[in-house]
Amino acid sequence: MAGLDVKALLDGHDGDDLERWAHTINPQFVRVLKTIGFDRTWARAEGAHLWDADGNRYLDMLGGFGMYNVGRNNPRIRGALIEALELDTPGMLAMGVTALPGLLAEALLVRTPPRLERCLFTNSGTEAVEAALKLGRAATKRTRVISADHGFHGLTLGSLSANGAPEFTDRFGPLLPGFERVPFGDLDALEAELKREDVALFIVEPVQGKGLNLPPAGYLEGAQALCREYGSLLCVDEVQTGFGRTGTMFAFEHWGLEPDLVPVAKSLSGGYVPVGALLMSRAVHEAVFDSMEHAVSHGSTFAPNELAMVAGLATLNELDDERLVERSARLGTRLLELTQPFVEEYDVVRDVRGLGLMWAIEFGEPHSGRIAWKLIEKAQPGLFAQLVVGPLFADHRILSQVAGHKLAVVKVLPPLVVTDEDVDEFVDALRETVEQAQKMPSSLTKFALTAAGIR
Ligand code: PMP
Repeated sequence: MAGLDVKALLDGHDGDDLERWAHTINPQFVRVLKTIGFDRTWARAEGAHLWDADGNRYLDMLGGFGMYNVGRNNPRIRGALIEALELDTPGMLAMGVTALPGLLAEALLVRTPPRLERCLFTNSGTEAVEAALKLGRAATKRTRVISADHGFHGLTLGSLSANGAPEFTDRFGPLLPGFERVPFGDLDALEAELKREDVALFIVEPVQGKGLNLPPAGYLEGAQALCREYGSLLCVDEVQTGFGRTGTMFAFEHWGLEPDLVPVAKSLSGGYVPVGALLMSRAVHEAVFDSMEHAVSHGSTFAPNELAMVAGLATLNELDDERLVERSARLGTRLLELTQPFVEEYDVVRDVRGLGLMWAIEFGEPHSGRIAWKLIEKAQPGLFAQLVVGPLFADHRILSQVAGHKLAVVKVLPPLVVTDEDVDEFVDALRETVEQAQKMPSSLTKFALTAAGIR
């Protein structure tokens, strides 16, 4: 009996992808894509590039929001996955153990500070955060969780409870009790909470993905010292920043941190198979899994699945072999050097910031063209960013995105396999686009106002 012929299915299916998605998955999302002009039919991908059905090539500076650090359709990750499939490995035992999960756990832990000694696998970033919340509470026998304003840790209820953004939290309450937020960068506010000595953990992204906020000097080190002083655990969420994104394997290395809990996911997948993990100190693990009775206190059916483990092992291998972490540091520095002068050159550019290949440009009200700026800001705060993202995509075939709801910030998280030429292409296109957007011509403003009409 013949199995599924995927090629025949893809070649022969009738109707268009957007219509089918709208009918079966999410019509509102398809409306958004059509309104902002991102409604392409995608045919193929390789490395840092995508091709649409008409054969046009696009430079992917978004990298699936940071899950393609090793590039799309990386042939070495694919090869490892095919090999694993052909080996007929035992699969998940449920009541038993196999080789691959232990090997990936070991490979992750040797790349982190000695304080991290145990690994719990999950299927996604938000699940790794949920594990941190649960295990952190049980290990400390405390209930409160402190997070930072504008933090993002995932969209399931526990992770969402650490999120302060009403566009995500409204309509889904009540959230979990015991969650409090403090301003990112404010050690006094953090200490005021920790001082009560009832905080299980402080969860923080080392570089905030939403808005791309870098920590002020001394902040993360100070937060770690306060956590230690008051008996709270430090959870550094590396879901987006991990695996070379910021120019080091993990972002916490920039500040020499030794967190107790580290959720990871996204790029560990090699872009192929969902996989996440919570890396933690032995003390946390032993406090929770403290007896045979508690041996299976937390877990998930598919978490240590063998394809996910191979994707993770192949990804770590690829980051090392291709020196992608160093590449991220070098190209990130180059991207910053080429774009930081925009702050002086363009009235509308407020700031250009980044770490490794996590980069953003922020816009603010210009001295010239104030009326048009006010008009579009009034329609929707931050809307100016669409005046950049839209033309970058439509005119230059470059994929980027706004860095969050109501923020005039454009952000990029390209695959770490981008080249010097790709960076140059992006910088040239950005220059042209910002120059054009700064004039705020009526055609662009109209486009932005239509985009703001998205409901
Ligand atoms: N933490 C951070 C810092 C993230 O950026 C994200 C996803 N954008 C998550 C957690 C959630 O990960 P996932 O989408 O895999 O649930």
